[in-house]
Amino acid sequence: MTRLAGIIGHPVAHTLSPVIQGAAFAQCGLDVRYEAWDTTPEALAGRVVSLRDPKHLGANVTIPHKESVIRLLDELGGQSARVGAVNTIVSQSGRLYGFNTDGTGFVAALKNEAQFEVAGKAVLLLGAGGAGRGIAYALAEARAGSIAIWNRTPERAARLAADVGRAGGAVRAVPGTETAGFDCIVNCTSMGMDGGGAEAGAACDFSDARPAALAVDIVYRPEETPFLRAARAAGLATLGGLPMLIYQGALAFELWTGVRAPVEAMFEAARAALAGGQRR
Ligand code: NAP
Repeated sequence: MTRLAGIIGHPVAHTLSPVIQGAAFAQCGLDVRYEAWDTTPEALAGRVVSLRDPKHLGANVTIPHKESVIRLLDELGGQSARVGAVNTIVSQSGRLYGFNTDGTGFVAALKNEAQFEVAGKAVLLLGAGGAGRGIAYALAEARAGSIAIWNRTPERAARLAADVGRAGGAVRAVPGTETAGFDCIVNCTSMGMDGGGAEAGAACDFSDARPAALAVDIVYRPEETPFLRAARAAGLATLGGLPMLIYQGALAFELWTGVRAPVEAMFEAARAALAGGQRR
């Protein structure tokens, strides 16, 4: 029987997930069809119920359903309950399990693609939106030495710092984007994203940053963002947003299949699609 999986979001026309997951299933010789399921908020409950059918492996979940889907699931795993968002659903024996692989995908991308171990490191996060939230919890779980969070709307940074602090992380909200003293500086805002309305990018002065610091932008379109350009001009090592996208997908794939994800094939498919003008 051909199994089914897909991404639930609205809109999903430009999502890269079918390309990435399709390449992974094909590479591993698994008989799974991965589809883009455009789902309005009104249709969400019906779509999620359909995942209980045994032909479904599960789903990815994206904007705007990552929070609202939680009440439709049976159990939450990993950090998803604390983060308050689910990006992966696993369907097993009619039950639905929710996970969040965004933050853990980010930490895996740092480790595997930038040889950066989070444990003990001082990290500055710019942005406290949905992605920043998952990343902050994953950094705390990976035992970052300290996490500083700046956000345009300061109350949101303060709330996230308090939430992650309660879960045991050494976290504080900061009023500015000074980069001095950090081992890793991460742009989790949508600044710099094509079509996001703030294409000029995150304003960050890297002149006082540690020379050995790593600058990471989770925005992946364009691949070379103004944030990454400024960091590189200051002599810092950089990592773009594509690795996080690939590793969050790879972790979802592994939850569904129990098979090690073919990360190289997933990168290759994503790069080809991005070069051809496709968006997540
Ligand atoms: P979100 O929940 O809407 O949060 C947006 C964040 O950007 C908030 O912190 C917001 O600050 C900030 N922001 C937006 N416009 C700004 C501006 N002009 N100046 C300063 N700050 C601004 O979005 P999200 O889901 O966290 O996604 C954020 C970005 O990450 C997007 O570009 C998305 O494509 C990317 N992303 C990448 C991956 C990946 O796998 N690589 C995964 C998820 C997301 P306020 O709180 O003040 O509004």
